Amino acid sequence: MSLEEGRMAEREKKKSSVYDNVVHQFNKAADLIDLDPNIRKILNTTTNEIVIHFPVKMDNGQVEMFTGYRVQHNNALGPYKGGLRFHPSVNIDEVRALATWMTWKSAIANIPLGGAKGGIQCDPANYSMDELERISRRFTYALGNNIGPEYDIPAPDVNTNSQIMAWIMDTYLSTIPPHERNRCIHVVTGKPIESGGSIGRDKATGQGIVFTIEQWAKQKKFDLNNATYLVQGFGNVGSWTAKLLQPFGAKLIGVQDVSGSIYNKNGIDPNDLDNYTKNNNNIIQGYSNAEAIDNDSFMALPADIFIPSALENQITEKTAPNLKIKMVAEGANGPTDIKGDEILQDKNIDVIPDILCNAGGVIVSYFEWLQNKRSEFWGLDEVDSKLKKIITNAFNRVTDAADKYNTDWRTAAYTVALEHLETVYKERGIFP
Ligand code: NAD
Repeated sequence: MSLEEGRMAEREKKKSSVYDNVVHQFNKAADLIDLDPNIRKILNTTTNEIVIHFPVKMDNGQVEMFTGYRVQHNNALGPYKGGLRFHPSVNIDEVRALATWMTWKSAIANIPLGGAKGGIQCDPANYSMDELERISRRFTYALGNNIGPEYDIPAPDVNTNSQIMAWIMDTYLSTIPPHERNRCIHVVTGKPIESGGSIGRDKATGQGIVFTIEQWAKQKKFDLNNATYLVQGFGNVGSWTAKLLQPFGAKLIGVQDVSGSIYNKNGIDPNDLDNYTKNNNNIIQGYSNAEAIDNDSFMALPADIFIPSALENQITEKTAPNLKIKMVAEGANGPTDIKGDEILQDKNIDVIPDILCNAGGVIVSYFEWLQNKRSEFWGLDEVDSKLKKIITNAFNRVTDAADKYNTDWRTAAYTVALEHLETVYKERGIFP
């Protein structure tokens, strides 16, 4: 086995447990609330799993085959909704897990959307912009009517952005009758503002994370002024969270991304680091106002708050024992595996779970969808204040459930989602 094949196998092994995390978390909450066994069967299963192998012409004239996924978990509350990820380790297990988390997230936020997720197994760093455009467009074309503005609405995720959403929208609109096009731009969210995106969508996930951290601090009587924080992943979610937490007087002391880790006990200016990465292929490597440290040392840095904002399974049996923090705000989806979660609980480290903490993205995607449907354009104050209200209500529902069931916040968040969906299934019944 070559080194690259070995790395790939290692990644696959690690990823194969992502869906196990979902099932474990689901079962724990379903047992706690004594979820109806029939509804349990429905919610424990994804509805549609689409796997597409499609050809794309490369710049050198050769054709390369790609594999794309779209998993639609549940649409009892509204159209399927969830991001699209471009990453070499995208696989059906991971997409299934991410789609399921989306269902819970919308249910906790009490917004009328379901859960889906998708992705293409590829490393975008290996392709030119023209090739990325053809990959995005060909995948959209291959998906056909499996997506749609009232059926399944993609959005950005790891390694995808507003430009890719614009290409997806344009391709989708080009395949439907001309007189339908202008009323279907809500087929994707996270679009560029000029092409129908919402103000505030780019920072929405980070903004939502900071709103939940504020609520946690209020509840725990913790002063964010002079608090220290670590951020793993400095892309959309990590960089915005870092920038939005700084005005509270909190100090960013360590950052990790795909290129390595950096540390400065006197603080790293997140805006300065953001400007640096934008001119440095989106990586933190080489940043001069902090020292480079190894990744294991990063995970052992003493700090108040840790914000994982990269990939799944980062807080594990191996890394959790080393953490010297008070709280984890899960910006990423699934950053903590089953063993990691148990260790956090044993160490009395608070966790704002992903399905609550990073819901700001889907909440403002919902606002973008609404604005497109109504041909409206909201201002930033309106977007931010509506986001704050929805995510604070969700936070309160989760902490109330934690008190009611005397359980941890992750399980409590699941109980909120499952009770909501159980009620809807009982009201509507199961056809026929
Ligand atoms: P992104 O592509 O903008 O950034 C990903 C970051 O993670 C990059 O800085 C990258 O260098 C880093 N990274 C990749 N592999 C890493 C590794 N092995 N170790 C450390 N860092 C690594 O992606 P994003 O949109 O910021 O998404 C990050 C996470 O947040 C994902 O779990 C995603 O599902 C979740 N999320 C994103 C949104 C959104 O609106 N974009 C919403 C909710 C949740």
